[in-house]
Amino acid sequence: LWGQACAELEKTVGPNNFNHWIKPLRLTSVDEGVARFASPTRFVSDWVNRHFAKDIIGELNRIEPSVERVRFDVAPQGVTARVRTAAQAPATQFRANGPAVSPAAPEMRQSAKADLCAPLDPRFTFENFVVGKPNELAHAAARRVAEGGPVGFNPLFLYGGVGLGKTHLMHAIAHDYQQRHPAAQVLYLSAEQFMYRFVQALRESTIMDFKGMFRNVNMLMVDDVQFIAGKDSTQEEFFHTFNALVDQGKQIVISADRAPAEIKGLEERIKSRLGCGLIVDLHPTTYELRLGILQSKTEAFRDQHPDLEIGAGVLEFLAHRITNNVRVLEGALQRLFAHASLLRREITLEVAQECLADILRTNDRKISIDDIQRKVAEHYNIKLADMMGPKRARNVARPRQIAMYLSKQLTSRSLPEIGRRFGGRDHTTIMHGVRKIEELAGEDHGLAEDIAMLKRLLEA
Ligand code: ADP
Ligand code: MG
Repeated sequence: LWGQACAELEKTVGPNNFNHWIKPLRLTSVDEGVARFASPTRFVSDWVNRHFAKDIIGELNRIEPSVERVRFDVAPQGVTARVRTAAQAPATQFRANGPAVSPAAPEMRQSAKADLCAPLDPRFTFENFVVGKPNELAHAAARRVAEGGPVGFNPLFLYGGVGLGKTHLMHAIAHDYQQRHPAAQVLYLSAEQFMYRFVQALRESTIMDFKGMFRNVNMLMVDDVQFIAGKDSTQEEFFHTFNALVDQGKQIVISADRAPAEIKGLEERIKSRLGCGLIVDLHPTTYELRLGILQSKTEAFRDQHPDLEIGAGVLEFLAHRITNNVRVLEGALQRLFAHASLLRREITLEVAQECLADILRTNDRKISIDDIQRKVAEHYNIKLADMMGPKRARNVARPRQIAMYLSKQLTSRSLPEIGRRFGGRDHTTIMHGVRKIEELAGEDHGLAEDIAMLKRLLEA
């Protein structure tokens, strides 16, 4: 069963991913719809679970229709040597490659490059990267470098906060460049892996091989370079590698979580060398970019699952409320998709709020119901007291419903709580108000614009 599935999986995920992640797995049992695997490390199982579980289930399911889920158990018998190597590695990223370089696994040694190179995520392509104001410069620079023409920037230094797309762009450069230059050697790894390889080479007296491998690539990409700040001998080696490559006109791409000048413990000569290329930053996301990303990921998902139903306003709600980083935003969306396909029901705003309560709480923008009532009353020129009062005339009731709707969308208050703040109204009245506005905003463009503007005002 597994051998057959593997042959297919190698095609779906590509040989690189297959060798790194899927090959080390052993199928131990299939029972009650669950296929259990033994995996050499926790890192491998987490990664496979996150990135390839769907593919694995799909393949197994094709051959053995009872399989619906997969489980991974860590540290099986028979690969102890590999596990030990992995455990010695100081950080998770290394463990990922632990098996690939372990002498205990000669069958996994492919080439020098495969040994060193961290696997590229097949989804991190330019096609899947949504461009907006905050990242357009970084994206344009990345495209230029991927083309590999004479008017590039060397080195290209990308920096920005967590989850803004640095790693995605680097992988995209690697994919694109490799496609244009199939014979070229592209080496992508994290600064952490660079250090680990370096230390390992020192320990095993293979430093000449190490140097040779790095000096022979056409493009070197080092992710999260802030990691080597303060690590003197690693910096020293990095600096030499870097100079050797730049002098030969080889492309270097580096990322960090902040600008070179702000990385403490990074040598001045490295900073100044970095300054010779192009330094671009990824800005924090805007509402428009977040919405664009959500829409594109939803479309991609819908291609595979045409029956996915996402209610009106759900994506907008997420883009408003989850503002810190794209990874969290994606995580939220994944959870909604899982929810939708398991329960086979439409994801309405209420379902989304309930299902994502924990994420939403930590992202609370702290907009209060008071603020909302005040802004809406001001906008429609009614008295603040009318928000709580009993008047039912349309010119008062409608703005009140808009305020209810915004309270539901922009705060994490429950319907009964919102009811209390609107003069002790019942939660069903609030729900009715929210629905009414959703419905009207769907038909009345002017109202939808009004609401969008109020949201912007409140979030400013
Ligand atoms: P960083 O390396 O800056 O911490 P990543 O590149 O790992 O961030 O991005 C985190 C997640 O967000 C990834 O899954 C990535 O695909 C996604 N992501 C970030 N920016 C975008 C974007 N502009 N378009 C599509 N996906 C994005
Ligand atoms: Mg990253």
